[in-house]
Amino acid sequence: MDVMNEEQKHPWEEFKTYVAQAGALLNLQEKDLAHLLEPNAVLHKDLHVSLGGKRTTIPAYRIQFSNARGPYKGGIRFHVQVDEEEVKALAGAMAIKCAVVDIPFGGGKGGVQFNPDAYSKEEVHAVSREFVKEFYDHLGQDRDIPAPDVSTNAEIMGIMLDTFEDIAQKSAPATFTGKPLSLGGIQGRDTATALGGVMVLDEYVAEKGLNPRDLKVAIHGFGNAGMNAALLLHERGYIIVGLSDSKGSAMSQTSLNPHEFVRTKMEGGTVRQVYCTDESCDESKLHDDEVTIGSPDAVLTMDADIVIPAALGGVITADVAKKMKAHIVLELANGPTTAAADSILHSKNVSVLPDILANAGGVTVSYFEWLAGKTGERPTRAQVHDKLKDIMTNAWKSVSNFALQHGISYRVAAFALGAERILTAERDRGH
Ligand code: NAD
Repeated sequence: MDVMNEEQKHPWEEFKTYVAQAGALLNLQEKDLAHLLEPNAVLHKDLHVSLGGKRTTIPAYRIQFSNARGPYKGGIRFHVQVDEEEVKALAGAMAIKCAVVDIPFGGGKGGVQFNPDAYSKEEVHAVSREFVKEFYDHLGQDRDIPAPDVSTNAEIMGIMLDTFEDIAQKSAPATFTGKPLSLGGIQGRDTATALGGVMVLDEYVAEKGLNPRDLKVAIHGFGNAGMNAALLLHERGYIIVGLSDSKGSAMSQTSLNPHEFVRTKMEGGTVRQVYCTDESCDESKLHDDEVTIGSPDAVLTMDADIVIPAALGGVITADVAKKMKAHIVLELANGPTTAAADSILHSKNVSVLPDILANAGGVTVSYFEWLAGKTGERPTRAQVHDKLKDIMTNAWKSVSNFALQHGISYRVAAFALGAERILTAERDRGH
């Protein structure tokens, strides 16, 4: 197939490709495929809000994909490019992801098509409240449990919970996860996605008999997931050689100390600003540290053993995949690798630790938060880490064994394993 056409696929097309690959492996019938490809409910509402001083209407979605294994679960993103097909793909992937780590949730996702960065905090809060008012009847701790996603965070979850409880006239902390600690959030949610991914990587590295101290890592994206991954990997002895954000990258063939970059980021700076101002770069510091400054995407193809996409979807294209030198990809971002790139990486023997396994630490800790919301218990950070390790390690072993047994990629193995678990639940329900 023409690579360009393949590259232009929408996330929903990519999702269908992976389900089809899993379906062929498992010899699934039409009825089974329908469970994996047809969402239970596609909810679309128009939110009527004031933005920039004008009354306006913005589209909002909640897609409840599957609840065969438990209540719908998945984040709400605020982004101008949100559309029904994208939310559907993300909701379907959530159902598979929750099944891969074997937590008792189905899959869902929400989105509001607007750019929150263009508006005041009060306006963004008003959009958040309107979302809950419009979708109220469909949400609930045993029905559909939202969480943060792109451009939403604990603060937005706090506003959404407040709106929900106002309407419900009762306390309902388990209806949302990723909340502020003061409203029933959980210790360790902030680092959960990165830590879960690092736990999977550690398992892979141990299984292959590799030594972290010999492995060079390049990280694309330096936000919640990328920054925490850099700190955790540095602590474990991996050599960080590349870091990037939307403004640029810093690359070294010796090593970078992520703490210095985290400090600059926390002060509102960028990766590049550790060495450069808008006008010029500190050439002697660059020389002393053996660092070069490049484009945000330069880290993807630099000389490294491990590449960690931790920013946007679709950044590893076929072209990038052909140029990549790494032999391991740890997908912390959702959907960072196009289907065309995925098959190129597979043919180059690159091990892709796929998003539906590698970034499942976030939803796993959300599961602990949901349980805590229902029981009133408050687990410590250490307890959260121990439970996360059990779940991620078991999920890795299942995916790795499945891949080995069938001679397939970890991605197809994870899709097949998740699909099988969803379909078992459907059959046990007599569907
Ligand atoms: P974030 O907003 O905290 O960070 C995103 C980072 O990506 C920022 O540093 C930004 O500068 C950088 N970035 C943006 N455009 C870039 C570009 N073109 N090149 C390089 N860097 C760029 O987001 P996050 O919470 O860290 O999430 C990152 C990814 O991980 C997303 O795909 C998200 O869906 C996925 N994810 C996150 C979680 C979580 O718990 N945070 C859970 C599952 C999946």
